[in-house]
Amino acid sequence: MDGSILQAEVSSVTAGKDGGFVATLDGREVRSRAVLLATGIVDQAPVLPGLEPVMRRGLLRQCPICDGHQHSGQRIAVLGDGEHAQREALFLSHYSPHVSVVRLTAQALSAEPKDASFAAAAQAQRVVRLDSPVAQARLQDDGSVALVLQDCSSHVFDILYAALGCRPRSDLALPLGASRDDTGQLQVDRHCRTSVSGLYAAGDVVSGLDQLAVAIGHGAIAATAIHNHC
Ligand SMILES: Cc1cc2nc3c(=O)[nH]c(=O)nc-3n(C[C@H](O)[C@H](O)[C@H](O)COP(=O)(O)OP(=O)(O)OC[C@H]3O[C@@H](n4cnc5c(N)ncnc54)[C@H](O)[C@@H]3O)c2cc1C
Repeated sequence: MDGSILQAEVSSVTAGKDGGFVATLDGREVRSRAVLLATGIVDQAPVLPGLEPVMRRGLLRQCPICDGHQHSGQRIAVLGDGEHAQREALFLSHYSPHVSVVRLTAQALSAEPKDASFAAAAQAQRVVRLDSPVAQARLQDDGSVALVLQDCSSHVFDILYAALGCRPRSDLALPLGASRDDTGQLQVDRHCRTSVSGLYAAGDVVSGLDQLAVAIGHGAIAATAIHNHC
């Protein structure tokens, strides 16, 4: 059976009158019996004076699971507030004893972190919490990054990680009524079926571990299920 690849942005997917789907792309309509959404996520990036050159140098990372091991023993700052930043810092503390959580906002911190593992790591000084929010980043001549906090203290790091979460690109599934979790990721069963018959989802847009191997595995599972469905 022939297939074709169309390079275009899909603006909507609606239920077709015949029980299938109609996707609209660049003003034209494509009809299908099933749809597989593999639209991924958008990582949230921090907004901070001086961060642009740091990002251009590749010193602001998004995924500790992907490349945390490349920064073993380095001075690592995790940018973010709340439990997500604490979990990332804890993960990275297995690679380096120099991990700090740097806050982006002046939101009140709870006196004690809720995560007991994080509290233990902080107690053992494997992870440091800097209480004053960050005011600006400065790329240094030696390739390190100085973070200047609102209390005017300056802390030097080799690498930064953003821990602000991501926005799943699951909006196409909304008008169809597919179930999403509270982060917006699509909920699927073990055959990558969403709650809407004929609508499948794979990869980062599905709740779970955002990794290439997972996305490829989802793709194989979904393709088999779609073959059987159609
Ligand atoms: C900086 C970075 C480093 C990473 N490093 C690693 C790593 O080392 N190892 C690892 O395993 N994983 C890594 N990942 C994660 C990995 O890239 C993802 O898990 C994987 O790409 C997910 O595949 P996906 O197909 O779900 O989404 P994506 O690869 O994000 O693909 C989604 C595609 O859908 C397109 N799209 C979205 N909406 C529409 C629309 N409306 N119409 C048409 N097209 C649309 C997007 O343009 C995009 O091309 C990294 C991610 C990032 C951001």
